[in-house]
Amino acid sequence: ARRDRGRLLDLHREVSRFFHSLLLKSPDAAHAREYLKSRGFGKEMAERWEIGWAPESARTFLDWAREKGVRGRDLVNSGLAIQRDSGGLYIRFRDRLMFPIRNDHGDVIAFSGRQLREDPRSGKYINSPETTLFKKSNVLFALDRSRKGIMNEKAVLLCEGQIDAIACHEQGIENAIAPLGTAFTPQHAKILKRYTKQALLCFDADSAGYTAAERAFRELAGEDFSVRVVRMPPGEDPDSFMQKNGTDAFRALLGEALNFFDFKIEHAKSNGGLSGPQERAAFTRDCAELLSVVSDAVSRDAMINHVATRLRTGVPELRSAVADVARKGA
Ligand code: ATP
Ligand code: MN
Ligand code: MN
Ligand code: MN
Repeated sequence: ARRDRGRLLDLHREVSRFFHSLLLKSPDAAHAREYLKSRGFGKEMAERWEIGWAPESARTFLDWAREKGVRGRDLVNSGLAIQRDSGGLYIRFRDRLMFPIRNDHGDVIAFSGRQLREDPRSGKYINSPETTLFKKSNVLFALDRSRKGIMNEKAVLLCEGQIDAIACHEQGIENAIAPLGTAFTPQHAKILKRYTKQALLCFDADSAGYTAAERAFRELAGEDFSVRVVRMPPGEDPDSFMQKNGTDAFRALLGEALNFFDFKIEHAKSNGGLSGPQERAAFTRDCAELLSVVSDAVSRDAMINHVATRLRTGVPELRSAVADVARKGA
């Protein structure tokens, strides 16, 4: 089993180098280089992250694998290929911009590939499937190079997409990481807890990002994290915001991040969620439910006081609503 693991790690390392050299040099990858440039990313950035290009032609990939002596079984076990019923191999990543995903030690254990031309027949991003190396609920993109940054900043900056995490690092914001196209999991919170108890959420300013932020709050607050949320203009993500407004403006937003519940209240206000008595009551229940996940009793109590004041409800009422939720185990 250990030998299998070693072979799979070798394969990922070699494939990542292969994709990377194609991106830099292949005449067939001119459009991929053009795409990178159009997003404001230079060659050095591609080198630092070993970004690559998966060839369009399965032949190119399979010829390379044969030359390297890679076994078909290992291609399947790595998720790079899928066994066809007919016996042949189907290549998962074709004509995509490839981001190597690394474990804590910096070994490549999977890939995320972005479409270069919009094609609704498959996803904008596809990731490697779960393999013996890659358990996506345990992996955070860029954590291998963010640990120092997290310790220095005494906080982790949690983005939604890997491009956002990369854009942050490229601008010297070195505590940025991203989950990989999955919701933030309890394991993610447990992993981060080794390095910090403060999280800054910087998800996309859209409804998917809002939902992701609530989900992350649940997991983090359940592990005693203090959670703040960065407010960006509607529709933006860290990468697009910095492209438009520059790094200093983004740093300013980080500095103005709100405590999670202040963010939630502001969000509700601007969405009419506090307009009438019924809306207010529903919102208060919603807050009570989220307050009930806060594991640390002292912080929970402080938050209850704060939220009650801001919603102009009584502290005892909110406290008993929180206790009700906790009792029902909702
Ligand atoms: P880009 O800026 O390249 O469009 P993004 O990171 O802003 O990418 P989003 O659409 O905001 O992309 O999605 C956030 C993250 O969710 C992505 O980085 C990716 O990890 C994941 N993701 C997006 N679309 C898909 C998809 N179709 N399938 C799987 N994961 C996806
Ligand atoms: Mn998005
Ligand atoms: Mn985005
Ligand atoms: Mn984006």
